Parts: sequence; structure tokens; C-alpha cells
Amino acid sequence: MGYPCIAYCLYGFDPLILLLLYNRTYVLSKYFIMLSGWTLLNNSWLASEGHSDMPICSYCGHVFDKTQREHVFPSNLYPPSKSDSKVQRLTIPACGECNNSWSDDEAHFRNVMVVSGDNPNPIRQELWEGPIRRSFDQPDGARRIDDLIGIMRPVHIDGAGRHMIYPSEDARILRVIRKIIRGLAHYHGLFPFLPDDRVWVDVQRYEIPQQFISEMTYYHREPDVADYWYGILDDAEVHSAWLLKFLEAPAFVGIVHADSGGEG
Ligand SMILES: [Zn+2]
Repeated sequence: MGYPCIAYCLYGFDPLILLLLYNRTYVLSKYFIMLSGWTLLNNSWLASEGHSDMPICSYCGHVFDKTQREHVFPSNLYPPSKSDSKVQRLTIPACGECNNSWSDDEAHFRNVMVVSGDNPNPIRQELWEGPIRRSFDQPDGARRIDDLIGIMRPVHIDGAGRHMIYPSEDARILRVIRKIIRGLAHYHGLFPFLPDDRVWVDVQRYEIPQQFISEMTYYHREPDVADYWYGILDDAEVHSAWLLKFLEAPAFVGIVHADSGGEG
């Protein structure tokens, strides 16, 4: 059973109701939701930072004559109001095949992040009213709405009907979280590339002791868009632990498993 997140409402509407209405071409009102999670990474070898200049893909590790720049954090998490931000958006080299493989999952990821959690972050509203609603009008819009509806389950909270979201049961969400950690691991010079199967992620299920967090290094890519922390553990099983937060509420934890085979 994945850890649930309450679907947050605006104007008293449960988001599922709004999605159903929208799907039937009714006028959509505004709504919010939220979720929460963490991320931890780990590995037994540290790559030299010099590897970042090699013409290899940061995700698959293959050498290419030419690589593209891939955003570590999905660029679709940034609303139009962030277009003149001074905060650098992280990009790393990736091959075309890897680069193109994320876009559909990242669109789903953005939609789930926006409708999950309990924090009325204004960016959620901006994303919802702009790019997300426009995406619902695209040829694949009905599928995107179905994707969101599919992860909502009815619950009763204090006698009222609501919906919960289970991001930890959504393979596409977890894949994007792993991808972000893999990208950050490259960006911070921890690995030339980090295979997907070395990374474990889940939503943050429990309060993390402040002492543990204080031992991790904090970074942000716009604090209201994405925050992350990581700490190198460098033990036999775990290289590093990670915590990621999106839109100030959804939080995920991750671990990168230590390399047991000396592949580095
Ligand atoms: Zn690649």
C-alpha cells in the first residue's frame, strides 16, 4: 500500500469532481492538491568531477559524438512567472534517446505534483490554470485527465468525501524521481552516470529527524518549485541519502545503492 496524499481542494471542490467536469467540457474551477516525499541516494564509488566534460550521456553512460542538454528538474514545473528568474535551471548532457524518453512521464509528474498535497502554493494554481489546462485541450488531453483520475481513491475524512493520491504506486512518478536524482548525482560530480537500478525512491512516509536533515546539504532550484537535500553516507550499502520536495509539499526520499561490483 503506497503512502497516500490528500487531494486538496479550492472552492470546496474535490479535484476529482473538477476533472470529471472538465472532461465533459464544463468550465473548470480552480483547485489544488498536494503530496509529500523524500529521496535518498547511495553508491560506493565517487566519480571525479572531470567526467562531466566527457561526451557521454549522463543517464545511459554511452559515448556520443553529440549530446543534448536535459533539464535535471522537469522544466514544466516552472510556471511562466519564473521565466525571468535568476536561479539557474540545471541541465546536464544526455543522448537524444534518453532525453526524449522523459517527456510524457514528466508531463504526468507535473500534473500529479500540482494536484497533490496540502499546501496552497501559488505556483500550483498558475500551472493548473495555464499549461495544465491547455494540455487537457490537446489530442492526448483526455488520457492525461484519465491518468490523474486513475491515481485518486475515495476516502472519508471527518465524515466528508475526499480523494487520496498514491504517488508511490505510480511507476511513472517514481521513474521521474529516480531520473532527477540521477541527474543531480551527475551535476554534483558524484557519478559520471548513475544507472536507474541503483536508485530507490519512495514518498516520505515518516517525519525525518531534524538531526539527520541537518547533516545533509541543502540546495534549491527556486524554493517554491523544488528543494533538495543530500548527504553522502559512503557505507557498504548506501552511498548517499536524498530528500526532494516539490512545490513546497510533495516530498520524496531516495537512496542510491552502493556499488558492490567495483564497476566504477
Ligand atoms: Zn542516454
